[in-house]
Amino acid sequence: MGLAAGPEQQRGRLVISNIGLMLSGDLKAPILEADTVVAEHGRIVAVGRAKDCDTGAASVRIDAQGCALAPGLIDSHVHPVFGDWTPRQGQFGWIDSFLNGGVTSMISAGEVHLPGRPRDIIGVKALAITAQRAYTNFRPGGVKVLAGAPVIEKGMVESDFMDLAAAGVTLLGEVGLGSVKAGYEAKEMVAWARKAGIQSTIHTGGPSVPGSGYIDADTVLEADADIIGHINGGHTALPLSQIRCLCEGCGRGIEIVHNGNELAGLTALRFARELGQLERVILGTDSPAGSGVQPLGILRMIALLSSLGDTPAEIAFCLATGNTARMRKLDCGLIETGRAADFVLMDRAQHSAGTDLLDSVRKGDLPGIGMVIIDGIVRCGRSRNTPPADRVPVILSNP
Ligand SMILES: [Zn+2]
Repeated sequence: MGLAAGPEQQRGRLVISNIGLMLSGDLKAPILEADTVVAEHGRIVAVGRAKDCDTGAASVRIDAQGCALAPGLIDSHVHPVFGDWTPRQGQFGWIDSFLNGGVTSMISAGEVHLPGRPRDIIGVKALAITAQRAYTNFRPGGVKVLAGAPVIEKGMVESDFMDLAAAGVTLLGEVGLGSVKAGYEAKEMVAWARKAGIQSTIHTGGPSVPGSGYIDADTVLEADADIIGHINGGHTALPLSQIRCLCEGCGRGIEIVHNGNELAGLTALRFARELGQLERVILGTDSPAGSGVQPLGILRMIALLSSLGDTPAEIAFCLATGNTARMRKLDCGLIETGRAADFVLMDRAQHSAGTDLLDSVRKGDLPGIGMVIIDGIVRCGRSRNTPPADRVPVILSNP
């Protein structure tokens, strides 16, 4: 099992220099003319050329050795339960393994795999509040897990959503995984949640397991959740004509997941691009799931959408960083001053046919990760899960 941590920041000053490629996470300017990042107390305070940055008085100094730096990856769709354990495939340490895949934040779409998950309203609320508290206090491997995502059930009333919001709950789990499956019922509760400041997501497509529901495009549009959860199914996707209706029929988030239908995912990306709305596309794994638990799932999505989806790699990285951060209102995901110092440093994997990191991803290879940093703290060095990178960063001083 990996190391666990509470919510803590780097106390001093972190200087990372000799960065060969700076990926911003921002679709409008995905590559920055910069080779240096400085962070203080876990927040970015300077980005630029070394000569333009104050790089003195570092408490931790890292030579990136020419590696690329990107914002830490955000998995928009996970199903955690408690701690770094998942009963879905009987694994310990799965979140720490995702850290080794470059993921620094993950967002719960419902703690639905809890054995004996309560379905009564007080139980639903209690579980959500407990999960929110537990993952606020405990970060497996240092990864920020936004959890406490109640799955709505019949009989909930507006005050339930106000109670949840007052207790610190900010998310709904996938609409459709509980007893509320009809569009008109979901619509009312989603609106109550939104009014209370709680963001919502909806299961899209066929049932994931026996007992879970089928949600078609009309229901998704009527419910009007903030995120069209796994628009490419989990796994079973809607017909591509319905996916087009979803992309055209509302302005909500288009979430493409690893544990979904790849053809539908690539098609949804194409629809979003044709609409000129790539900023709506965010990525998740939808794991743990029947398909497994994928530590490299977000990197695999980036490589899939870049190589087969005709997308420059630097744009594909934005779908898993800046887009998600903006849509989810997170303080990470972009390389800009004031944001959390959550970084993944990577390079072309050894023996990739690509000429450099971006070319290798465009050719479908995964990057090699050399270091992951969360809130300014180095959480892992050379990844135990990715193929080995050509180059890895070196820590020059770490008192
Ligand atoms: Zn689902």
